[in-house]
Amino acid sequence: MNILHQIQRVVQTIPVLIIFSIVLWSYYAFVVSLCGVLPSPEMKTVYLMVYHVVFIVFCFSYLRAIFSDSGGVPPQFYLTAPEKEELDRTTDSRAFLEVVGKRLPIHEVTLTNAVRYCEVCLCIKPDRAHHCSMCRRCVLKMDHHCPWINNCVGFRNYKFFVTFLLYSCVYTITVSLFVAPWAVFIWNREEHMRALPEMDKFNIMIVFFVATMFFLAVSGLWVFHAFLTANNKSTLEMGRAPRMKNQRIGDKNPYDKGCKANCGDVYGSGVCMFCPVYTSRGNGVLFQPAERPPGDMRRLLSSNGMASDDDEVIYNSEVPLNLDPVMSA
Ligand SMILES: [Zn+2]
Ligand SMILES: [Zn+2]
Repeated sequence: MNILHQIQRVVQTIPVLIIFSIVLWSYYAFVVSLCGVLPSPEMKTVYLMVYHVVFIVFCFSYLRAIFSDSGGVPPQFYLTAPEKEELDRTTDSRAFLEVVGKRLPIHEVTLTNAVRYCEVCLCIKPDRAHHCSMCRRCVLKMDHHCPWINNCVGFRNYKFFVTFLLYSCVYTITVSLFVAPWAVFIWNREEHMRALPEMDKFNIMIVFFVATMFFLAVSGLWVFHAFLTANNKSTLEMGRAPRMKNQRIGDKNPYDKGCKANCGDVYGSGVCMFCPVYTSRGNGVLFQPAERPPGDMRRLLSSNGMASDDDEVIYNSEVPLNLDPVMSA
């Protein structure tokens, strides 16, 4: 089992190694093959300066997406040793978890209105958290497990993931636009390109094709995640809307606070909004209680005829918690 796990870990790094190989080859194609044919030193300086700025930001954002922790569940959500023993003994585990869940700020439930419990991690899942079978643990506000960064995308690294997508678009479109005229010259067999070695011609043509293809694919993914960010949804929540306690919230998107606030949750504010540095807001556990104004919640519930006396308690509960995340092993 351990050997299988080790093999799985090695296999999981292959997509990342493929991306790194393509990036290194594109560096060679641009800096050596393309810049070698540029007619003037001034043009070469401009090409190299612009390229290296974009290349460094892109590589940095990719490394941050790979090596950032996605966000583990805080210790308070794990059952204590006596609670685990009690859970094993009890014949009504649903009712027992209901009692344990009362001490935690949770609002999401399963399809059968039960407390969401992970039998692998032995923890009660915080709102928006899900278990990742690849990472073998529960991840806060899990979006998806991405093979191209060999990492889960969750609350703590979602911004790094979307900035990686953004700078992938910037990198590929920069390469594509700078290389395009020279690829056309080679395609038209123009006189001044004849002396260029065949390998350099091949590199220039292929890097143009590969960069354009990657730009089209990644920009589509970035637009999808921009839509998710604007609506405060995760990829998993797009597939299945979260179910809240007693279905008292009528909308299918209970975490939506409006486009500006939703984007602020992921990007924060200020000059570093679109930089690959951590500026996301919140703690990955409390979503509605701390962030949705109680007045709005009362109005929403009242308009559905569902307001009750304990709504204020539910949506304003300030459960004292040490929300230090559990870092991945
Ligand atoms: Zn789990
Ligand atoms: Zn994962």
